[in-house]
Amino acid sequence: MTYDLMTYDLVVIGGGAAGVAGALSAAQRGLRVALIDSGARLGGQYFRHPAVPPHPATSGLDRFVRQTRALSERAELLLGHQVWSVSREPGGDLTVHCVTTPGDGSGERPVEVRGRRLLLATGAHDRPLPFPGWDLPGVLTAGGAQALLKGNGVVAGQRVVVAGTGPFLLPVAAGLAAAGARVLGVHEANGGLGLARHPVLALAKAGEAASYALSLARHRVPYRPRTAVLAAHGGDRLEAVTVARLDRDWNVLSTRRVACDTLATGYGFTPQTDLGVQLGCDTRRDADGSPVLAVDDRQRTGVPGVWAAGEPTGVGGWRLAELEGRLAGLAAADDAGLAAAGESAAREAGAALPEVLVRRRDRMRAFARALLEAYPVKDGWQGWLRDDTLVCRCEEVPLSRLREAQDLGATDARSIKLLARPGMGWCQGRICGYPVACLAGEEPAPPRRPVVQPITLAALAEDLSAEPPTGGPS
Ligand SMILES: Cc1cc2nc3c(=O)[nH]c(=O)nc-3n(C[C@H](O)[C@H](O)[C@H](O)COP(=O)(O)OP(=O)(O)OC[C@H]3O[C@@H](n4cnc5c(N)ncnc54)[C@H](O)[C@@H]3O)c2cc1C
Repeated sequence: MTYDLMTYDLVVIGGGAAGVAGALSAAQRGLRVALIDSGARLGGQYFRHPAVPPHPATSGLDRFVRQTRALSERAELLLGHQVWSVSREPGGDLTVHCVTTPGDGSGERPVEVRGRRLLLATGAHDRPLPFPGWDLPGVLTAGGAQALLKGNGVVAGQRVVVAGTGPFLLPVAAGLAAAGARVLGVHEANGGLGLARHPVLALAKAGEAASYALSLARHRVPYRPRTAVLAAHGGDRLEAVTVARLDRDWNVLSTRRVACDTLATGYGFTPQTDLGVQLGCDTRRDADGSPVLAVDDRQRTGVPGVWAAGEPTGVGGWRLAELEGRLAGLAAADDAGLAAAGESAAREAGAALPEVLVRRRDRMRAFARALLEAYPVKDGWQGWLRDDTLVCRCEEVPLSRLREAQDLGATDARSIKLLARPGMGWCQGRICGYPVACLAGEEPAPPRRPVVQPITLAALAEDLSAEPPTGGPS
């Protein structure tokens, strides 16, 4: 067992835009900060990039790289550390339980990091929908295709179809086309004018949208609103997809077959809230029905000493994530200053945060809400499924087993899970939780996971049998 000797003023979980900005603004105000991320490099989903050379086309990357350099001089960076749980010590401090694999062949090792305050900046993950054939090799999530490209320089395929909903499909298609893939089409299930319907969106995103439109035009990539991929076909791997024209509610009007070797698909993102839920933080529904961590104006959750920033408080893009991170770092530093001065009454209110940052964050939040409303997931997708379509890939649960569970009296997603086992496999419902909730006629519930990342029994046993991290390394 490795123990860190220090009790940090602030422990940040997540090294994306929100976590880095939060850690840096707190460290610049004198807090002793540790930042933990499971990745080998800082960057998170948006700033994911190979070590050298940095990906040139990512806007904001230069500034992010400057932030990470400044942070590495001021804070402890624990990369390659996967957090599986956070617990509260009797004195009020928080212990973050991680595992890391040192690379000396000794296997997974537990690590505990203790802090007085915690900032949750754990981002989001892809939200795919099931459809016949989505388990074929060659079918990827849109985020997966982009991660391969940004992180490893790997182009997912030669003849690629991009499908789903939301503006995220555009950078994925543009990136793949620029890297040499033949992108056969971008199939947006909603109307293509989602952005333009909201004047605030149109203004704020006009430049970005135009640059993607230009890039798609340059590579002759057709953008087809109100179309979707209904099924993937192939033997050992993907050979073709069925593309459908849809009405407003995503009912099928007509279909055609398109030969391809790769499909990148995504229907938005699911915020990663599980560590916050584990600690007892309140959640609220975002505009798309996703449960997100509820925070106040200072990015505080309802649990004392715990802040949250970025996608766990609602999906809104890297700029909003960075801003929320900065505000959370400032608020945590303020809290530490007041604690040092013994000003417990003033702590409730805290010093005012920079008005200009607060106003910008609030504007961006309104923008994020409008974006979610412009690209909803409509119930029509449920009609694309067949009885044998796998809904849960880990446990190989087809739609028919979910329906049998419902016939047996399962009325909600939880009882469907108990009877038919969707969500009981490796991903613990991260992928199938959303569609199962929709098929049960519910909004997705906040994830309750006592262990949020897979951990070996040996590492778990070592962690649980260890003394609390109050002394030196054992
Ligand atoms: C697959 C994907 C691709 C995206 N691509 C784009 C894009 O091209 N353009 C865009 O504007 N937006 C994109 N987004 C949205 C994007 O997530 C945000 O705009 C931005 O990255 C949010 O920053 P963040 O700091 O909140 O989260 P992230 O950047 O996601 O950072 C979260 C970090 O937390 C770490 N983490 C999470 N859980 C744990 C744990 N238990 N233990 C240790 N570390 C943990 C992760 O490794 C990650 O580094 C993408 C989102 C996803 C899911």
